[in-house]
Amino acid sequence: MNLEEKERIFSNLSMTGTEMFQLMNDLFPICRSITGNGVRKSFELIKNYLDVELFEVASGTKVNDWTIPKEWNITDAYVIDPDGNKIIDFKSSNLHVVNYSIPVKKKLSLEELKPHLHSIPEQPELIPYKTSYYKEDWGFCLSHNQLLNLKDGDYEVCIDSSLENGALTYGEYFIQGITDQEIILSCYICHPSLCNDNLSGVVITTLLAKILCNVNCHYSYRFLFIPETIGAITWLHQNKQNLEKIKHGLVVTCAGDSGILTYKKTRHGNTEIDKAVQNTLRFSGNDYSIEEFFPWGSDERQFCSPGYNLPFGSLMRTRYGKYNVYHTSGDNTDFVKKPFLIDTFSKYISVLFTLENNRFYKNLYPDGEPQLKKRNLLNPIYTLLWILNFSDGENSLLDISDKSNIPFEEIITATNELIQAKLLEEITDVGNKKPDKKF
Ligand code: ZN
Repeated sequence: MNLEEKERIFSNLSMTGTEMFQLMNDLFPICRSITGNGVRKSFELIKNYLDVELFEVASGTKVNDWTIPKEWNITDAYVIDPDGNKIIDFKSSNLHVVNYSIPVKKKLSLEELKPHLHSIPEQPELIPYKTSYYKEDWGFCLSHNQLLNLKDGDYEVCIDSSLENGALTYGEYFIQGITDQEIILSCYICHPSLCNDNLSGVVITTLLAKILCNVNCHYSYRFLFIPETIGAITWLHQNKQNLEKIKHGLVVTCAGDSGILTYKKTRHGNTEIDKAVQNTLRFSGNDYSIEEFFPWGSDERQFCSPGYNLPFGSLMRTRYGKYNVYHTSGDNTDFVKKPFLIDTFSKYISVLFTLENNRFYKNLYPDGEPQLKKRNLLNPIYTLLWILNFSDGENSLLDISDKSNIPFEEIITATNELIQAKLLEEITDVGNKKPDKKF
């Protein structure tokens, strides 16, 4: 990705935002889970933008310490009150059913029903999002206000679901770059009608893939659309033999709310991806927040587990668990706004541009400064001197941007001029020089 390609992407951001917002709205009504037809239906919509390759892993397959669960599907669910009114209806919001609920059809009293009802007393208007993936159970979620108004008597409950041997579905999209070394962008596709967590991640990942297809990429890119946790563990298990190709990774989540950008570092904490994201945020002119790695959260937990210890960070806006409508019906298509999706998307492009162009160079005139005046160079002398002085094989262009406080793009422009003037030469064999050579 060169500067012109980056500028072309930036000049089309408004159209990209429209596509992301459209896809998010189309995906929103679908009842997804960690397995089942909701995920497959979501891929049908994503395929309008991107030819994702789908993988199905059979129920019962062992993946590390886990087993692929039975496949869950649901067509309907409701509760009818003693007066015959349908008071909870899956068709009005799929959050009303505890995700992975076993089939149920029976009459029971309010007292018997209550242990199966979930609400949030502190947020009485909102429906909570609950799951029961690995414990066979059933339940309904409703607003606390609605719960308080339930009258005594017999209720009819129906959950028309199935839990049977099937498969876990995940998707992958691959772009071959100049090198086989890979950058992974991973999102999860298991949440039902919830937007910031995580349709925002799905649509940003989809459009990044769609747009990078038309760019000359240095790295190869792999985009993962997986159910959270079990999907990441499955993917890592299935791809053991290829993990050493992974150079950088980011988990894309909670990317469309109005909060500032947040970067959660890799477990290692000081890899090239950590530096690239922090450099982008630092020069963005916006407020941002940096968090050290912690072993809970999204799929970075799996990628950064000690056995793999891959360089995965997560670039988001307000982190999961920190915004008040997190995992509730308030995380809807009104909560996520197009300008924030566009802003997050542009930050991802800037990070990828930095990774794509970060190299080590050798100053060809290291004995004293080369005489710059006689060469009629156009870039500021200040920038040229920074690059020449630190192009010693120990510092990458990103390191020089950090040290000099000069934006990475300006470093690239000046570097290109120094190469043209035959003052700088790329070091291609930097294996032992990189501070994070492990990756
Ligand atoms: Zn979530």
